[in-house]
Amino acid sequence: MKHPTLFSLLLLAGPLLGQDPSLVPTQIRNRIILEGKQKSQVAKHLDELTNGIGPRLTGSPQAIRAAYWAKDKFQSFGIENARVEKWSDWKVGFERGPWSGEITAPKSAIQNLHFVTRAWSAGTKGRQEGPVVLLPKSLEEAKAHPQLWQGAWVLGRLGGRRRFSPKTSKLKTYLKTQGILGFIAPSRNRLLITSGNFRITWDHRPSIPEVTLRVDEFQKLKELVTNGQKPRVLFDIRNHFIKGPIPNFNVIADIIGSEKPDEFVIVGGHLDSWDGATGTTDNGTGTATTLEAARILMASGVKPKRSIRFMLWTGEEQGLMGSRAYVKKHRSDGLMNKISAVLVHDGGTNYCAGLQATPSQLPILQKALAGLDQVDPAYEFSVSPLRFFVGGSDHASFIPAKVPGFFWLQKGKANYTHTHHTQFDTYDSAIDAYQRQSATVIALSALAIANLGKLLPRTSRAEIAKLTGGRGGRRGFRLGVQLKEGMFVVAVVKGSLAEASGIKKGDQILRVGKRKIESTRDLIRGIFRAFQRGLKKIPLFVLRQGKEKQLELKMPKRR
Ligand SMILES: [Zn+2]
Repeated sequence: MKHPTLFSLLLLAGPLLGQDPSLVPTQIRNRIILEGKQKSQVAKHLDELTNGIGPRLTGSPQAIRAAYWAKDKFQSFGIENARVEKWSDWKVGFERGPWSGEITAPKSAIQNLHFVTRAWSAGTKGRQEGPVVLLPKSLEEAKAHPQLWQGAWVLGRLGGRRRFSPKTSKLKTYLKTQGILGFIAPSRNRLLITSGNFRITWDHRPSIPEVTLRVDEFQKLKELVTNGQKPRVLFDIRNHFIKGPIPNFNVIADIIGSEKPDEFVIVGGHLDSWDGATGTTDNGTGTATTLEAARILMASGVKPKRSIRFMLWTGEEQGLMGSRAYVKKHRSDGLMNKISAVLVHDGGTNYCAGLQATPSQLPILQKALAGLDQVDPAYEFSVSPLRFFVGGSDHASFIPAKVPGFFWLQKGKANYTHTHHTQFDTYDSAIDAYQRQSATVIALSALAIANLGKLLPRTSRAEIAKLTGGRGGRRGFRLGVQLKEGMFVVAVVKGSLAEASGIKKGDQILRVGKRKIESTRDLIRGIFRAFQRGLKKIPLFVLRQGKEKQLELKMPKRR
């Protein structure tokens, strides 16, 4: 033995550098790391998904295509049971073709335009060119100039901040009947955000386009109009409605456990996206790592004790709908009690750097996932106590069923805000080195948790709320009212703060203190400000049966 010291050091270092070998045998761990870091296919999955299929708006043909593509992918890794599972039908589908626009006159101002339209909103009827006119301030003003509207593009934000007031809807209807080509509103900043509302019916589907134009270009157009330069614009927007029912699918694939096949660790992310770009960081990156974790584990020949279930949900962007439907479906068949953990990757392309855990989960996970910080010295990893709850993704659907739901904490140089639901969410925004690290970490974590002696300790919305100061689960921080336009209360949740405060169905919320309330945002701000000012009693004014009534808003003990 030439180097006894080095040799014994290596012996010592071996187990320290790895994970607990009873959870992840060293040989398997090395295979997983080799597959994930050196032989990665995560970029290929992402390319096929975002460039090959494109955006995946739930209820679009691409979302259906993506579901079958993902199922085939899982099967190509050797998971024969991979399947799509329908969770709903929607009344109206939507598909977005190319969209373009330009200023066509005056000559000195000719340029291409940057804009977006909402999903499930109308496109143009071909290439539609016309003069730009300013949005009238009122219905009376519009009626005073009837010659202006036929064939014109109307520039301005409908209703100012109150976009959906009854007043603006009358104005809108009038202008539509006068034959305008569409509306042009400004974006908030240079990011063009896509959203939309699928809850439309075929008979009442939108008929004219509402363009959100990048704010600088909007200002330029406005100046041209006010300077009397008579600008004209042309838009060609190929938005297209599809008569339903349109089926929506989740994708499911299981590596079946050798000892406890009916117990699960779920690994997943959402397959759907908004459709203003190609849904890369939201959530092509999480879809690609879910697929890649499956590939890595299969290629490494793992035999987990519990089953590892890979899930790709749709309808996430409309309110976690696919995952909620899945939880609802299995609420009473006992499955929820047999899911050890749900690990969701949906925070963009930064690398998975840790998890947050409740006090009872913490020591178990810290032990099971020890060594993940040594997969690659360039990347950190830690399991930390639960301090803040990230609620906006599919893991949150499982929390009400007491299933431990985790959202990967991510670190790195990528700026998620820049790409999240914006025109910049394209393939170039993904960072392959991070993706490789994430897929490897997810694969190792899933295997370790699947091999634990017991299921992870259950959690609850109440526990999470306690640990995070009120932000537990989807509704943990809500007042408990459902409001419709005009701030009318449509429903009051039983046992909510709203009920305790005496708010009743039919009330119209007018003010919090002196602050006028015209939107839910005003309401949240009003309450928050009162809170910040340390007010013990927050007066709330409502209109009830024609009379103003003062209530006192009861506040939760914790922030
Ligand atoms: Zn997302």
